[in-house]
Amino acid sequence: MGHNQVRDIVIVGGGTAAWMAAAVLATGLPQGRGTITLVESSAIGTVGVGEATIPPILQLNRLLQLDEGELIRRTQATYKLGIEFRDWRELGASYFHPFGAYGADLGGVHFHHYWLKTQQGALSDYSLPAAAAYAGRFAAPVEDPRNVLSRLSYALHFDATLYAAYLRDVATGRGVTALDGRIVDVALDGESGWVRSILLEDGREIAGDLFIDCSGFRGLLIEEALNTGYENWSHWLPMDRALAVPSQCSGPPVPFTRSTAQDAGWIWRIPLQHRTGNGHVYCSSFVDDQQAADRLLDQLDAPAIADPRPLRFQTGRRPKAWNRNVVALGLACGFVEPLESTSIHLIQQGVTTLLSLFPRDGINKAEVAEYNRLMQRDFERVRDFVILHYKQTLRRDTDFWREMAAMPVPDSLSHRMELFAANGRVMIEPGELFTETSWVAVMLGQGLTPNGYDLQADLLPEAEVREKLDRMRTTIARGVQALPTHKSYIDRLCAG
Ligand SMILES: Cc1cc2nc3c(=O)[nH]c(=O)nc-3n(C[C@H](O)[C@H](O)[C@H](O)COP(=O)(O)OP(=O)(O)OC[C@H]3O[C@@H](n4cnc5c(N)ncnc54)[C@H](O)[C@@H]3O)c2cc1C
Repeated sequence: MGHNQVRDIVIVGGGTAAWMAAAVLATGLPQGRGTITLVESSAIGTVGVGEATIPPILQLNRLLQLDEGELIRRTQATYKLGIEFRDWRELGASYFHPFGAYGADLGGVHFHHYWLKTQQGALSDYSLPAAAAYAGRFAAPVEDPRNVLSRLSYALHFDATLYAAYLRDVATGRGVTALDGRIVDVALDGESGWVRSILLEDGREIAGDLFIDCSGFRGLLIEEALNTGYENWSHWLPMDRALAVPSQCSGPPVPFTRSTAQDAGWIWRIPLQHRTGNGHVYCSSFVDDQQAADRLLDQLDAPAIADPRPLRFQTGRRPKAWNRNVVALGLACGFVEPLESTSIHLIQQGVTTLLSLFPRDGINKAEVAEYNRLMQRDFERVRDFVILHYKQTLRRDTDFWREMAAMPVPDSLSHRMELFAANGRVMIEPGELFTETSWVAVMLGQGLTPNGYDLQADLLPEAEVREKLDRMRTTIARGVQALPTHKSYIDRLCAG
């Protein structure tokens, strides 16, 4: 591939993806090796949603050396200990997908096998994050591994617009140049077909060696200029529209996201300090926009503070996230609906993977291929986990749910489901995003009950197992009582 050394980077866009990329590249690349220019258009809006994250966001904060208290203050953030799923398994039933492991493993055998064996109490009683979430309590985990409070794992909810503005300050403070202008054309090199420059409405031409396309769903460079294509996954995930609406706070913010299944989709509820984010993700072949809006507004627990904002999307991904000298991030790269809050994470994966494969002397074919392989793997893992919620359900009350339960799913997912159905086994490979806890929480939560459990769980006498499980529940319940309320923890941080 060769071409020029990569000195000048041009980032296209000014949404979450663009500012995350700008901040990470400005922090992670050696100073003085070239320029980073970001071109955004104040005339074209951002998607502006994307308010729930997952625990790896904390690694990004560390990489960027962000002060968590400042981030919480500037983005009106709250803490997130997991997701509560209502009406997903069947109407009236709920379960919690927590961050952080269940109970403790015994004799090298994962905890959930003992729970499957004894069925003693509710599974969520063995999860400190789930119990703390329902009690409305939170504190950052302690370091001492003997203390149960070391077992909290968390993520954040934040205001997406404030988050982008915060990262903008971080990135520009570290040398990124931001330009405001509408891009009207993309110039390609006649010989190689690589992007040479972008042209702005006011006549400016911005040249670069590497372009990061964060222009949103349209993919200004990756698609409109390079025709990279799109792998459509809507036969597995047919949700194609969303309505987002903020509402007033209805009380102290709870430290978890709520997802409530609907006739043909689901409604999210994300509590922030200054408002609540709500949205209805739905499938337009089964429900029309007015019905979807009515359902969303009916389920608000406090008055709306704006009109519902419509969004359209198609689930899928670019077959090449890196094509020639363009790397697509964020919505320009692909989209899996926000059920497990994974899009910001996929941006993080994209930009940190780019950093670890960053061209040293020109763009290298093997490094590009590796980048594309890793991003494909990450997208497909997220896809499978999200499909699981629809495929494995006991709901048959609407055409939508009947169709979802009957659909064929990717082999990679059916294998996981069959493995779990046999003896509750979840085999995690290195680098997987979703842990054993996540798979166990959702598979059991959605009603996939294994026929058996790991044989080795029979090595310990049953009475001893029952006593140990009892002790775990008591320790967790006491641990929760020792935590401050989520609201008081945030108030203290913000005051500080
Ligand atoms: C309904 C919904 C809910 C979501 N919820 C979550 C969630 O809870 N958690 C999560 O992790 N993710 C979520 N996401 C995904 C998240 O919103 C996105 O990943 C994130 O906002 C990144 O968007 P982006 O920066 O790629 O694109 P955008 O926000 O669309 O930004 C595109 C940028 O490109 C610029 N641009 C476009 N054309 C031009 C042009 N011609 N000239 C100059 N500039 C241009 C625009 O001005 C804008 O700045 C959700 C997405 C949707 C649709």
